[in-house]
Amino acid sequence: MKVLVVEDDVQIARQLETALKASGYVVEMAHDGEEGLYKGQNESFDAVILDLGLPKIDGLTILQQWRAEQRNMPVIILTARDTWREKVSGLRAGADDYIAKPFETEEVLARVEALIRRTSGHASAILSCGPVQLDTTNNRVTCNNEPVEMTALELGMLSYLMHHQGDVISKTTLTEHIYEQDFDRDSNVIEVLVNRLRKKLGNTLIKTHRGLGYQLVEPSSD
Ligand code: CA
Repeated sequence: MKVLVVEDDVQIARQLETALKASGYVVEMAHDGEEGLYKGQNESFDAVILDLGLPKIDGLTILQQWRAEQRNMPVIILTARDTWREKVSGLRAGADDYIAKPFETEEVLARVEALIRRTSGHASAILSCGPVQLDTTNNRVTCNNEPVEMTALELGMLSYLMHHQGDVISKTTLTEHIYEQDFDRDSNVIEVLVNRLRKKLGNTLIKTHRGLGYQLVEPSSD
């Protein structure tokens, strides 16, 4: 899952980046409004954390611009003060949630997680597919109720596929959502990762659609 953080305050930006990465997210940072607007227009994100008070272009303008261009990724706005006016303007501009500064990092993480889940149509924090379960609150994976050890990349891929269960996901999309931007996209690492997941979780869980991508399916429905 890939998250964009648009925040000019260096300390807050670093705090969010560290916490999100520790929770397994791929994180892109933007430190002013122009950079933030551009990244949101040109890359695909599972969630955005957007500060409102930004140099060059303010957060509300960015949000309105994205929404006008049908960029519909979920956005959480950070409001500098706990004022209802900022929250209302933010929500009207198309924000999905807001957090008032100062905030606890744990709260931000919980909200990002819930927002990504809701956006992909999951109400419960535990995602299931056949014998496999992923607890999104702690990234624990079980298969037939047995815990399964996962590397960060395996977890990233499984999480993306489980949030989009049933959809055929292209290699490009998977690469975009589980790797940093500067990653070498020519390699066949996605295939390698898929094979590792199959070894750990069963051969029939991930279906290959040649030339199109991969699909997470309930083994019994195959
Ligand atoms: Ca700011």
